[in-house]
Order: sequence, then C-alpha cells, then structure tokens
Amino acid sequence: MRLHLDPKPSASATPPMDAAGRHQGVGYWHETIEAVPGEPLAESISCDVAIVGGGYTGLSTAWYLKKHCPDLDVVVLEAAVVGHGASGRNGGFVMPLLGWDLLYTVKKLGDETARDAYQLMYEAVNHVKQVIGEDRIDCDLETTGYVLLNTSEVRERRSRLEYETARRLGFDHEWLEGDALAAHIRSDCFRSGVFDPHACVVNPAKLARGMKAQVEAMGVRVYERSPLLDLEEGAPVRLRTEQGTVRATQVMLAVNGYGAALGFMESRIMPVHTFIVLTEPLRREQLDAVGWGAKRASLESARNLINYFRLTADNRILFGGEDAKLYYGGRYYDHDDAVSEALKTRFRAYFPPLEDVAFTHEWGGLLGVSLDMFPSSGVVGSLGNIFYAGGYSGHGVALSNYAGALVAPAMLEAAGRQAPDAPRPPFFYGRRPAWVGHDPVRYLGVQAYRYVLRAQDHFQGA
Ligand SMILES: Cc1cc2nc3c(=O)[nH]c(=O)nc-3n(C[C@H](O)[C@H](O)[C@H](O)COP(=O)(O)OP(=O)(O)OC[C@H]3O[C@@H](n4cnc5c(N)ncnc54)[C@H](O)[C@@H]3O)c2cc1C
Repeated sequence: MRLHLDPKPSASATPPMDAAGRHQGVGYWHETIEAVPGEPLAESISCDVAIVGGGYTGLSTAWYLKKHCPDLDVVVLEAAVVGHGASGRNGGFVMPLLGWDLLYTVKKLGDETARDAYQLMYEAVNHVKQVIGEDRIDCDLETTGYVLLNTSEVRERRSRLEYETARRLGFDHEWLEGDALAAHIRSDCFRSGVFDPHACVVNPAKLARGMKAQVEAMGVRVYERSPLLDLEEGAPVRLRTEQGTVRATQVMLAVNGYGAALGFMESRIMPVHTFIVLTEPLRREQLDAVGWGAKRASLESARNLINYFRLTADNRILFGGEDAKLYYGGRYYDHDDAVSEALKTRFRAYFPPLEDVAFTHEWGGLLGVSLDMFPSSGVVGSLGNIFYAGGYSGHGVALSNYAGALVAPAMLEAAGRQAPDAPRPPFFYGRRPAWVGHDPVRYLGVQAYRYVLRAQDHFQGA
C-alpha cells in the first residue's frame, strides 16, 4: 500500500498558516484558543507508532497507547496545527448518535447489534466526560441533554417509532410535546421532540488543544506543520513529510475526511462539508422569547439534511447543517455563501422573535461520510501494521474521542502487548464502507442523492 498527498483539494481553501507561520484559525472556536504552531518534523526519526492527523481520533489513540504502555514511542504528525480539522471546528455536540438514526440501525443490524452499537455510543459520551473531568481539560463542558425536534407530521411519526424502539431496547429517551417541549424550546415550527438526557456540549477547539497538552505530558511527540506527503508500506512503514522522514513499526491513519486527498478510501469515506453560522451573544430576554434560557438543551431538527443548534458558553446560538456538500475533485472550503444564507433563513423561520439578531461568524469543515453513515475502523495493508478509524459521518465527536479505546487495543495486541479492559471491537471494526466510485461518478452520485434528500424534506414539510 502506498499513499501520496494530492495538494489540489486544499489549494483553494484558506491556507492554515500565514506567511509568518502563524496559524490562521477558521471560525469562532479558533478565536477562543491560542494555537501557537509547534515545531515541524525536520529530521529523520524512528518510532514505535506514527499517528497521522492531530484531531480527536489521533490524539485519543496516542492517549490510549501511552496510558497502557508508557514506554511506547509515539509520534503525531499534523499537517497544520492540532484542532485545525473538524475536531477544532465542529458544533461541539457530544452525542450518542450513529448512522442515519436508531431505526435505520435496527433495520440494518437487528435489535441486538443496534443495542450494542448505541450502548457503545453512550460509553463514548461518558468516556469524553470522564477524561475531561479527570484531566481537568478546560473546554466549557456542559451536560445539556439533546432534543430531536419534529418539524412535520411525517417526521413525527418516524420519531415516535424511533422513541418506542429506543425504550424497547432499554434507553431512557423521553417524548416531549406541549408544555414539556416548551420547557426546552418554543417555536411554531416544532411539533414535538425526543429528549436524550446524556448528551453534552464542549468548546471543541479547547478540547483538542487540551488533548494535545495531555498527550505531550505523557511523552508523545507532536509535530505540527508536518503534512504527510508519502507513505510506503513495509516493516517499518516509511513516511515522508515536507521536511522529515519517519520509520514507524505501526501507523495510525487518523485523517477522517482528509484521507481522500491522500488516496486513502477516497471512494468509501467521502470528504463532505457541513457549515455553521453563529450569532452575537444573546441577552436573557432574547433567549426567554424562544424558551431557551432555562434548560439550555442542544437541539437538532428531524430532517434528512438536519439543522443542529446549541448555545455557547457566552450565549451565542450556533446554528449549523441545512446542507451537506461534496465539491468536485474533493476540494476543501472553509465557507460557502449559499449555505450560510440558507442557514440564516432557516434560523429566522424557526425563531421569528430573533429576526434582528446579528450573525458574527460563518465557517465549515470536512466530515468523513460513508454511504450508510456508519463509521469504519480496522487495519489495512498486507503486513497488519497500518490502522485507521474514520467515516463518522457528522456524529464523530464522541466516537473519535473513543477511537483510541476501539483501535489501540488491536495495535497493542499486534505488537505483542496487552490492553487491559479493552471494549469489545465494535461491529464496524474491519468493515469496508460501500464503494461509491471516483469523480465524476462519485460527485454526480452525491449530487443526485442530495437532491433526493432535499426533495423529500421539502415534500414532507420538514
Ligand atoms: C463544521 C462541523 C461541525 C460538526 N459538528 C459535529 C457535532 O456537533 N457533533 C459531532 O458528533 N460531530 C460533529 N462533526 C464531526 C466531528 O467533528 C468529526 O467527526 C471529528 O472531529 C473527526 O475527528 P478526526 O480526528 O477523525 O478528524 P479531524 O478532526 O478532521 O482531524 C484530522 C486531522 O488530520 C490532519 N491532516 C489532514 N491531512 C493530513 C496529512 N496529509 N498529514 C498530516 N495531517 C493531516 C488535519 O489537519 C486534521 O487536523 C462536525 C464536523 C464539522 C466539520
């Protein structure tokens, strides 16, 4: 197996560094952290494990390896700075969601596997809370719970079925309507909802930077501004960055949506974008006007192309989703005017009392999306020493933070080490997502699929 970085996809995006080598953040969260880029790799080194990608997947893998085997020599290679990718830009919803939804998961996998899969997601959410608490990562963690909001009769019927399925499988979801719903949020657009009390929110960039400090304190060498240019399978695996080389016994590919530009699963895990708009901080009476002041729940609308919205620590409304875009040639963009406008229109339709609220930030980033929205992890190549995890499809904050616990045990085992109390490998370990072809077929297929999803939302009034 060989990987080679195609520089074209990122050519049109904001370069992550300015001419003086300072990190150019994208969006609001990056303004809340100080990311002074670390030194690039500028020599030839050897290590036990080289992790490519400094997002949650990479950092959680480094954390797990060092926690269980402190003597392992672990290196992280990050193209820009830790948290530059989705891990520093996301909505910050730490949610127990997987695939399209629970009904789809049950249909595809059956009751028992679906229950295990969702149970794993709750473990992942708890893991995030536990690590943040134990290591005192300052990232505005708030257990808000999460409400899936029904905006149409058709969606309400599906949601009701999903709620009943969740209860049957033993999960403690609550059905909300009337006053119970109004205690969380008020809008004529929302008919009813399903509440899950366990979800929480974080400042994602603060979490990523906190995890960087955490693994460095454990002895992990984190090289920033060090994009992987080539990888050649072997024993050891040989990696080349702009200014250095690495010989690694094992490699973890933790690049999620960016894998496509390296030629890794580009026809199975697609670089799809999601975008966010953010308001100015709201006053208490503005929040009260939409019933959002007291409980501060995180919210998502039940549509194919969902909207997700939450409050930040300083009471701004973060409002995202509405569309999901794959650009031709797998190009990356940090911003899309048309999606920003559509998000603002939707926001005003949901919350007429907030019509005059100003928007201060707009940004987006890359998801790794598989056709059935299920993630994927495992080992690739012929020598059993290149591991990966990704394809979380929009619900990756919890799972990518748990990726270490799901993949690192296999890495340790392959290296003849022990991983005590490792969780059972999930159903998606070793799963290869469906093949969707190369552009233009991939691009045209995704466009067609997106129009079908939009049309269905439109005709269902969702
Ligand atoms: C705008 C947005 C909103 C989202 N909201 C939510 C949400 O609220 N809840 C939720 O559950 N999920 C959300 N997600 C998804 C979630 O953020 C991701 O699933 C998760 O962060 C993936 O983490 P990761 O570490 O696998 O990937 P990333 O965080 O993308 O990390 C990959 C890293 O690899 C680096 N890299 C790329 N190429 C190379 C290379 N050649 N060499 C070295 N390094 C390289 C990148 O710079 C990047 O830092 C959102 C995503 C986006 C973009």
